[in-house]
Amino acid sequence: MTAIYAYIPFVGETASDIAAEYLTAAKKIDASAPVTAVLTGSEEALNKVAEEMTNLYTEVIKIDHADLAYPNAEVVRKALVNTIPADAVFLAPHDTFGMDLAPGLSVKMDSGYAADLVDFDGLDDSTLTAVRQELGGAVSTHVTIDISQGAVLTVRPGSFAPVEEGGAGGTVVDKSSDAGDLSVKRKFIEVVVAEVGDVDITKSDVLISIGRGIEDEDNIEVAQELAEAMNAVVSCSRPIVDAKWLEKSRQVGTSGQTVKPKVYMAMGISGSFQHLGGIKGNPFIVAVNKNPKAPIFQVADVGIVEDILDFMPELTDAIKDL
Ligand SMILES: Cc1cc2nc3c(=O)[nH]c(=O)nc-3n(C[C@H](O)[C@H](O)[C@H](O)COP(=O)(O)OP(=O)(O)OC[C@H]3O[C@@H](n4cnc5c(N)ncnc54)[C@H](O)[C@@H]3O)c2cc1C
Repeated sequence: MTAIYAYIPFVGETASDIAAEYLTAAKKIDASAPVTAVLTGSEEALNKVAEEMTNLYTEVIKIDHADLAYPNAEVVRKALVNTIPADAVFLAPHDTFGMDLAPGLSVKMDSGYAADLVDFDGLDDSTLTAVRQELGGAVSTHVTIDISQGAVLTVRPGSFAPVEEGGAGGTVVDKSSDAGDLSVKRKFIEVVVAEVGDVDITKSDVLISIGRGIEDEDNIEVAQELAEAMNAVVSCSRPIVDAKWLEKSRQVGTSGQTVKPKVYMAMGISGSFQHLGGIKGNPFIVAVNKNPKAPIFQVADVGIVEDILDFMPELTDAIKDL
């Protein structure tokens, strides 16, 4: 029988949102498979998050070691190889850390590997079909993975609906003594916290987020006027930061800020997974884009095919009239 292990990252004492998403993913892999949460870390923070995870998972493995206090994939990999069954299906997030951790882990475990999965489409004997997105989300492809010898799979954050029900009443199993020798060559140096900048986009309930569709630096004023009218804040996609039109602290995405607004207005943003990876908390998404086939429309609650340079001033005027 398939046994699924889900790696739960956490920052401070807060587990990643993917903890609740894995359970939906696991059901789609094999609804009858037991799912075990796996946490690595050190002392109080680890204990607290592991305890919290018993709400979602019936079994929670914790591996506690001073060297696991910081995100060093080489150390985590060593700890996991000694604790997880070699034939397990192991889930990790497809984020910077997961991308560092997972390929080497599959090599060490001599198991299958597939990355950046957004859906699962059935298990036939030991052949699992998974869905990936290519070309910035414009095309979905199906891949098969032989999981008979286990598999390491990275799951794109935000792709599976989080389970809402808690109350799993699980138990924490301490496997720290199984981790073995964790000495590695790669040394952790420091965590550099991103600058907040003049505005903290993570605190705003409404974001007017602009992408390359804004076309010119001078047009940013149009977005700013709309933001003022809506009591919102302007955020952006990465090309706007690369062009130095807005500061890095306003960038939403996997290499920018993670935001949890109530309303997200995506203005001239195509909807790359790196951008969408920074939008959490299931906000109401309004997307305005000239291209009716833009991938952003797949995740938008309301999609408007329109030129943003016409749409934004009109909306600003309409709101002011109200
Ligand atoms: C390692 C890595 C990390 C990354 N991290 C991030 C990240 O954190 N955040 C991020 O955003 N990106 C990130 N990216 C970049 C990402 O892959 C995309 O390139 C980027 O998100 C695209 O930004 P965009 O949607 O603004 O631009 P585009 O993809 O060029 O889309 C522009 C959209 O605007 C529309 N448009 C054009 N003109 C108009 C108009 N006048 N009116 C209406 N619509 C119009 C077009 O139809 C198009 O859909 C990362 C990439 C890598 C490789």
